[in-house]
Amino acid sequence: MQLTDLSVIRDLFSRHGFSFTKSLGQNFLINPSVCRKIAEMGGCNKNVCALEIGTGVGVLTKELAIRTKKTAAVEIDRGLEPILAETLAGLDNVEVIFGDITEIDLKKLFEEKFKGEEVVVCANLPYYITSPVIMRLLEERLPISSITVMVQKEAADRICAKVGSRESGALTAAVNYYSVPKKLFGVSRGSFAPSPNVDSAVIRLDIVRENKYRVRDEKLFFRIVKTIFSQRRKQLINPLSAELKIPKEKLSEILISIGAKPAARAEELDMDKLAALCNAISILKERQ
Ligand code: SAM
Repeated sequence: MQLTDLSVIRDLFSRHGFSFTKSLGQNFLINPSVCRKIAEMGGCNKNVCALEIGTGVGVLTKELAIRTKKTAAVEIDRGLEPILAETLAGLDNVEVIFGDITEIDLKKLFEEKFKGEEVVVCANLPYYITSPVIMRLLEERLPISSITVMVQKEAADRICAKVGSRESGALTAAVNYYSVPKKLFGVSRGSFAPSPNVDSAVIRLDIVRENKYRVRDEKLFFRIVKTIFSQRRKQLINPLSAELKIPKEKLSEILISIGAKPAARAEELDMDKLAALCNAISILKERQ
C-alpha cells in the first residue's frame, strides 16, 4: 500500500470515517523520498530502536520499522487506530502508543519499550509543539543518540543558528547545550496533504552526553538564558539584574571579566560566554 498516494489516503479516510484535524498539526507526508531520507539520515539501522512522534497514517512509521530493531510511536489521535491497524499490519516490531507526547511519562516509556537499547528519534513533528517536544526530549536525558525531525523552516533556522548571532534565541542556546544541531534539507509545502502555509526543513540533533561547556549550575544556566533572551535585542544587564537581584555594577564587572561588553545583548554571547557568565554568577551567589 503506497501511503504517500493521495487516492490511497482518501480511501483509508472514507472507509474508516477519518478526517484531518488542523489543530493537531495533521499535515501528512505525501513525498516518498522525504520519508526515506528522514529514516536513513536519522540513523535508523538494525542495531537501534526508533521513537516516532505522531504517526499520521503510518507513512514514516513503516520506513522506521523496516530499518530498525523496534519502533515505538506516540500518537494523540485515537481516530487513527483502525487505519494504523491496517497500514502497519504485518510489521511485528512496531507499537503505537496512544497518548499526548507532552504529557506521557517518557522515562517509563523508554524503560518498557526500549529496555536500555540505543534509540533514535525520527518524526514529522506537529508544529504547534515543536519547542516543548524538543526541549522535553533533551532535558530528560533519555538514552537517545540523535533526534531527526521535520520542523517549520523558520524553527530550523532558529535552532541551527550560531549562538551569538542575530538569529539565535533561548531555544538555540538550549539545543546547543545538549546537542550538535545540523540542518539536513528543506522540504516544500507541496510535500504534505493538506499543504501548510509554510515551508519546512529536516534537522538532526546529535546528543552530547558530557557537560562540554563546563556549566557549574545547569538550573541557573537555563534561568539566565531564559531571562536574557526574553529581551534579546536589549542590554542583558537589565532583565538579569531584576531577575537575580544582583546590582548592575556587579554584573558589568562580570561581563567585562568574561570578555563581553557591559552593554552586551543576549544575542552577542556565544555558548562559551553564556557558560562563563553563568559560572561567574554562580560563584558570586555562593560567596553571598
Ligand atoms: N508522521 C506522519 C506523516 O509524516 O505523515 C504525521 C505527521 S503530522 C505533521 C503530526 C502528527 O502528530 C499527527 O498524526 C497528529 O495527530 C500527531 N500529534 C499532534 N499532537 C500530538 C501530541 N501532542 N502527541 C502525540 N501526537 C500528536
